[in-house]
Amino acid sequence: MSSRAEISVSAPSRFEPVIGLEVHVQLLTATKIFCSCSTRFGAPPNTNVCPVCLGMPGALPVLNRKVVEFATLAALALNCRINETSIFARKNYFYPDLPKGYQISQYDRPLAEHGFIEVPSGGSGRKKIGITRVHLEEDAGKSLHEGFSDSDEKTAIDLNRTGVPLIEIVSEPEISTPDEAYEYLTRLKEIILYTGVSDCNMEEGSLRCDANVSVRPRGQKEFGTKTEIKNVNSFRFIREALEYEIARQVDVIDSGGTITQETRLYNANEGKTYGMRSKEQAHDYRYFPEPDLLPLVVDEKWRTEIARTLPELPEARRERMVKDYGITEYDAQVLTFSKSLADQFEEAARAAKNPKRVANLVQGELMGRLKAKGIQIEQSPISMRGVAASADLVESGTISGKMLKDLYDLSFERGKDFPAVYDEEGRPQQSTDTSALEKMIDDILAANPKQVEQYRAGKKTMLGFFVGQVMKASKGQASPQIVNELLTKKLG
Ligand SMILES: [Zn+2]
Repeated sequence: MSSRAEISVSAPSRFEPVIGLEVHVQLLTATKIFCSCSTRFGAPPNTNVCPVCLGMPGALPVLNRKVVEFATLAALALNCRINETSIFARKNYFYPDLPKGYQISQYDRPLAEHGFIEVPSGGSGRKKIGITRVHLEEDAGKSLHEGFSDSDEKTAIDLNRTGVPLIEIVSEPEISTPDEAYEYLTRLKEIILYTGVSDCNMEEGSLRCDANVSVRPRGQKEFGTKTEIKNVNSFRFIREALEYEIARQVDVIDSGGTITQETRLYNANEGKTYGMRSKEQAHDYRYFPEPDLLPLVVDEKWRTEIARTLPELPEARRERMVKDYGITEYDAQVLTFSKSLADQFEEAARAAKNPKRVANLVQGELMGRLKAKGIQIEQSPISMRGVAASADLVESGTISGKMLKDLYDLSFERGKDFPAVYDEEGRPQQSTDTSALEKMIDDILAANPKQVEQYRAGKKTMLGFFVGQVMKASKGQASPQIVNELLTKKLG
């Protein structure tokens, strides 16, 4: 077997990867999909259970209305068409953490179809990745293979998760690279978070991703045999797993072998995938319509009501923010990292005289300090109102950039908002004593005759140099506005 590095250099030119993603997202309802048990994560094992989710004979499922609303909202946000009538189906398989012996899912008539997500592709381009379907299903329980004194010979079962509501989002096999897969997942998560129907917490399993991947000679129409990579718990690992798996498949084909259709697990420590079991075909599951549930009808009236609760989505929001606040696309990208950050930025930008300055302060002064402290924007000692207030003070020339930095540092030290620290520091008086300033400026101009000459010869950008020199000489205490005025006057 040749090394990974060799393969990855030559593979892209001869082989083309085909990737499709299946993402399971847990919906944030308080109760399960077909019973009133709590969905709370981390409860003691087997305490959130009842005859329905334990699959006792004779217990009947009752569909949770909120689940349908959340799933529909997510599907609309993913540009899907909602099917007025969808059908629940039994997916039959035997597994210890599935007490009924079947999972209630949707099969040939899912809740929603024909959506898409746009991802950045090739520089400034964009690519639409199709979403085949979004369907509803219940989660299974958990098998615990470790953590007990007799774990070496027994497996424990926790059924709290049984019946927790999920949506499965299936992409078209239109993803061409591991990077595109990473982008798709990042956008998908962002959109779902914006709708508020899930917390997408990967550590707690609220978002899980399986990837189907195959390779084919470039230009060939037919798909190659695919493998499925299951249970990878971060987007970065999915990208790595796909890179490895693509290289592995190319290598197998190059050495005359054939790819086996199977499920593979990714070992993140080794950076390799391993075959787990041969993959079931759909007919192995013996799908049939769930006899205990009526067809699900989301009529136009209900759909419209749900659509009305759809928030502005990240992509549209970025475009609007660029227009509204005169910020760059990059600014907008950073500032919409989370809905909460974007909400707070907009609050500050609307309150401030110069939104662009707010954007710069958030990125340049606030985010770095938050990162250094290892805290989120929600825990920031400086509120967005505080950022807006500080931006206005710099804008009006009341404080200098240097003073702002010092005050931000004090805010973080004291855990107090900017206006409070600004008051505590006795609203630091700027040097507005122009006679002292004028003396300083005269000295600086005298010390830099060459630069003065250049300025007078038309190189107006030299002004910035002089402002910098004066600010330095005044140890950041001078008002930039007054310095500017005096300099312009003296330089003639
Ligand atoms: Zn239950």
